[in-house]
Amino acid sequence: MIRIWNAGFKYPGGFVLKPVNFNIAAGSFAVLMGPNGSGKSTLFQLINGIEKPAGGTITVNGSEVAALSDRERARMMGMVPQRSRIIFDYSVDELVSMGRFPYQGLFAGESAEDRAIIDQVIERLDLNDFRDRSIKSLSGGEYQRVLLARVLVQQTEVLLLDEPGNHLDLKHQTLLLNLLREEVGKGKTVVAVLHDLNQALHYADTGLLLNDGECVESGHPADFLTAGLIRDVFGVEMKEYRSADGSVIFGLNP
Ligand code: ADP
Ligand code: MG
Repeated sequence: MIRIWNAGFKYPGGFVLKPVNFNIAAGSFAVLMGPNGSGKSTLFQLINGIEKPAGGTITVNGSEVAALSDRERARMMGMVPQRSRIIFDYSVDELVSMGRFPYQGLFAGESAEDRAIIDQVIERLDLNDFRDRSIKSLSGGEYQRVLLARVLVQQTEVLLLDEPGNHLDLKHQTLLLNLLREEVGKGKTVVAVLHDLNQALHYADTGLLLNDGECVESGHPADFLTAGLIRDVFGVEMKEYRSADGSVIFGLNP
């Protein structure tokens, strides 16, 4: 579904993302990991076509993303960026509804189908009680759920989520990850930045670990995450535990 071939990038400021090679199959959950400033969001900008790679190519469903129009991209990929500023004061319902814009004609408003999709997603993200609230009045986690709802109503084959668990409490993080797994089960492709390596181990089918603008490892996280690698890349001592089913869990080393 997503083919990243030798895609690198350089900011005028100096940071260099060295050429990345990574393929993500349709219907899989891919996770991007790495310390702050390692280049995860930069890689997202490339996948989403906001920035053009310096050399190499990125194709989604066979199309080179850099060559797609905004509208074509919006029908193919939905993205929740790591940071987004609230500029206008919409209600929760209004902001979520905007996710349907790529499907609506210039003057055609919302269809009954649009409304049904919006209502269903609002329900799934536990946002019913917030529907009419101003987005400016929400807590960080509530707002994050609104942004996730907006991208879900877009019903794209690909979801790009940069730190989607930001600000979410344990219940809503779990709800989100299970919901994403469900979407993946229906054939969607999810790419998410996750900081919790245990979540990456549990939920992802494939992953990429970045460090200092360089891809250090890729593949199934369980095949490469070790306490030694975590020490080298994150500078943290973690201990490997085994859960009852034999899978690895990383915990702080007391
Ligand atoms: P991550 O998402 O892994 O935390 P980013 O991809 O956001 O990291 O950033 C990688 C590096 O690129 C950082 O050192 C950051 O300061 C730098 N950077 C990010 N955006 C810009 C920009 N627009 N111009 C210059 N440097 C940038
Ligand atoms: Mg980032």
